[in-house]
Amino acid sequence: MFIALVIGAVFAIMQILLDARNERKDLSVHAKSILDYAGLPAARAAYRLDDVGAHELVVSLLSDPALVKAEILDETGLTLARAARTSTKPPSILEQLLLGSGAEMFARDLRIEQANIDVGTLIIELDPVAAAPGFQQRTWNALLSGLLKSTILAFLLTAIFQLIITKRVTRLAESFSSAAKHKPKTARRGDELDLLEERVLQSTNALAKAVIEAQAPNKTKSVFLASMSHEMRTPLNAIIGYAEALEMGIGVDNIERRNSYLKNISSAGKQLNRLLGDILDFSKIEAGSIEFEIEDVSLAETIRSDIQQLEEIAAERQISLKTDISTEEMVRADQSRLRQILLNFVTNATKYNFSGGTIIVGVTARPDGQQRLYVKDSGSGIPPNQIQSIFEPFVRADNNLPDIPGAGLGLAICKMLAEGMGGHIGCDSVVAEGSTFWVDLKLSASSVSSRKDSASPIA
Ligand code: ADP
Repeated sequence: MFIALVIGAVFAIMQILLDARNERKDLSVHAKSILDYAGLPAARAAYRLDDVGAHELVVSLLSDPALVKAEILDETGLTLARAARTSTKPPSILEQLLLGSGAEMFARDLRIEQANIDVGTLIIELDPVAAAPGFQQRTWNALLSGLLKSTILAFLLTAIFQLIITKRVTRLAESFSSAAKHKPKTARRGDELDLLEERVLQSTNALAKAVIEAQAPNKTKSVFLASMSHEMRTPLNAIIGYAEALEMGIGVDNIERRNSYLKNISSAGKQLNRLLGDILDFSKIEAGSIEFEIEDVSLAETIRSDIQQLEEIAAERQISLKTDISTEEMVRADQSRLRQILLNFVTNATKYNFSGGTIIVGVTARPDGQQRLYVKDSGSGIPPNQIQSIFEPFVRADNNLPDIPGAGLGLAICKMLAEGMGGHIGCDSVVAEGSTFWVDLKLSASSVSSRKDSASPIA
């Protein structure tokens, strides 16, 4: 409020000073106009030494209210005529301060231009206060209106300021009281300490999270190396072992034994080949360098065309494989990637099954309009809490089965392939009863329109 008042007063004073300056300037202009007007008659009177004419002139000049003295001197400097009067009203202190305390003198040399001679001087004195009528009134008006304006401004600013501050303080008080309600224990220890403790906790958590995140790729790499070295060494050792045995002549006489050794070498080689294929596939898909050729594909036909190969895989463990195709509709998929998924599902359904078990490979329509390709087995099943994680790379479930070879990459690849085709992958499983692995794919446009045709009423 004080600041606003000061600002208002400063502005008012500046306005008054400006007004006074203008008045003083006007005084000089006024004096010049009198000298211009009276210069010529005064010069003539001085030239003729006409003291009567000169006197008339100076008296007539005094009719100007601002003029307090007029005098004409002859060329020798003696007074030819002189008229003066005292100011009617004494100047106020304010007028004296701003306009000056006494009369101001102005003079002009008098010349007869035609003869080119100086004939005397005209001197006038002007009263600056009388020359500025209404100055005092204007000064007071400016001062009062300035103060009034600044007072109003001060009140307005104070009101706004109070409104803001009050609001903030109230909010602060509310938050303090609610904090006190919710944290009775820490309230005892001082706000600053609490804040510090909270910040330290936050930073520690953030740091721990960052460390875990930073370590994640390393962890994945370690898991990868551990699984790979184990998965590669097993078939490699088998190959080396059986090959050395044959080299040393062990079992060469016995055709059955020799064939069995050769069969083991070949299957270990295939296992290695599969593993390398998986690693290659996985890294390619992860790097995004794999391209999908999406087209209209029949799930039913895919199964039929691969059935012999699938039956052979299952037969290796005396597992019977049946099909259950309940729809012939087409889906949008990449045929070769789809076959890769199907092959992986059936291989797993065989691997994690019991000898003499069953596998059903089927196609069914989903309530959401998609088509499902599934492989159901009568195997070990998967504990419910591990169903989601087996689709992660290098993760293997705890199936309570004797050591089954695998690197935990097959399902991760299948998941990426399914999603790359715009589908979804999943598994339903009950421990000791079996599992169903499935992939849901979008219906092709042709199948959608034929569905619509069959649903529309006959005209
Ligand atoms: P791998 O078979 O090489 O271990 P996968 O990614 O194909 O890798 O499978 C991951 C894990 O999921 C397997 O280790 C196994 O524990 C589990 N699993 C996959 N298919 C089946 C199945 N049909 N029945 C039971 N468990 C399965």
